[in-house]
Amino acid sequence: MAERLFGTNGVRGVVNEHLDCKLSLGLGMAIGAAMGGRIAMACDTRVSADMIKHAVSAGIMAAGHDVVDLGTIPTPALQLFVRDHPGISGGVMITASHNPPQFNGIKCVSGDGTEASRAEETGIEELYARGVQPAPWDEVGGMTAYAGADEEYVDRIVSAVDAEAIRGAGLTVCLDCANGAAFRTAPLLMKRLGVRAITLNCDAQGEFPGHPSEPSEDHLEDLKSLVGSTGADLGIAHDGDADRCVFITSSGGYVSGDKCLALMAGYILSRKRGGSVVTPVSTSSLVEETVEAAGGSVIRTAVGSPTVARRMMEEGSVFGGEENGGMIFPEHQYCRDGAMAAAVMLESIVLNGPLDRQVATLPVYHTEKRKIACPDNMKSKVLEYLEGIGGSATIDDTDGLKFIYDDGWVLARASGTEPAFRIYSESKDGDVARTRADKFEAAVSDYLDPGNMH
Ligand code: MG
Repeated sequence: MAERLFGTNGVRGVVNEHLDCKLSLGLGMAIGAAMGGRIAMACDTRVSADMIKHAVSAGIMAAGHDVVDLGTIPTPALQLFVRDHPGISGGVMITASHNPPQFNGIKCVSGDGTEASRAEETGIEELYARGVQPAPWDEVGGMTAYAGADEEYVDRIVSAVDAEAIRGAGLTVCLDCANGAAFRTAPLLMKRLGVRAITLNCDAQGEFPGHPSEPSEDHLEDLKSLVGSTGADLGIAHDGDADRCVFITSSGGYVSGDKCLALMAGYILSRKRGGSVVTPVSTSSLVEETVEAAGGSVIRTAVGSPTVARRMMEEGSVFGGEENGGMIFPEHQYCRDGAMAAAVMLESIVLNGPLDRQVATLPVYHTEKRKIACPDNMKSKVLEYLEGIGGSATIDDTDGLKFIYDDGWVLARASGTEPAFRIYSESKDGDVARTRADKFEAAVSDYLDPGNMH
């Protein structure tokens, strides 16, 4: 079997250490050979974007295939372009999403606009390992630029929501794009929706990402205070490639991904009663409670947005997403889309009232998240060991081990992207959630302690 290059979110690494021109060129040839035809490419705003994009493009052309360069646009804008433009066989996005600026990545998109499946990635890895024969000199591919993908994307989102209602509400938002791929599309979307946007980190020439890269609460202090000082109706923050979106309420409160997913699911179900919602095992039980109250059902999957999207297709689900701000609206497209999430949130505020009032209606759950360093070769042993310490819990093994108790649950799973083990513990009682997280964290640490031989 060929060496595994693709992780949970494409091939990622520190530029010129792991991810260099040679790897990018070779992968480009393999991607060209695997996809064939005309391949769309886009990138985020990282300093290495041009270097990696041109190396991958050169590989695709050397293998005899054409590149359509869409410029700097969000990942979901590339995905929509690939799906909707005839004659485009697939897409490649150059991004490392929320990773720090020294990273970049290569992410593949299937011909239908969805994230490439594991089988497609394995095919590319095998071609890379075998080496791809370059095309004869008179059959190499060419490159054309296409300038309208950002406008097409924004137009599509505007037409998917009740734009008239949003325009009539006279809203003001504060927008933080982390100086990433949404720097142009996000302000443009607000303009088309008649929403006044006060921008922060919406500069492609600004230093990416403008604040520590993951759009978590402690990284969005500037946005929170901007919302407070301007009296805006909402704060919107995207990650680097804008497939995700998180929100700040008008009173400056950060809305966790779990709460946002629950509110959005409830909103979608108010229009599509009885539908199913897909989310990974790591998301809060808040989603079940909200979805069931709205007359829907929840389907749980392993962690990873391609898994969620594929299950949504199989089940004909009305909505899906993850606890990190990734939301999938199937009538729009089967992938996470940060701009679509922002537009639907604006629509829900116009129809259902301010976000802080909506958040206040949710039941309260306490979630503890822990990360423990763990060598890759120890991950399965740790999991085996943990199986014995769950006590009265029922065990769900959809992804890692989920210990389900009467008053909460603990999920223990190996990280797919780092040498680390993750513990999630949830309960309506904060002490219970914390005590269980402590217990599992201590168990993993003890097991990995070199003083304890196994
Ligand atoms: Mg992302």
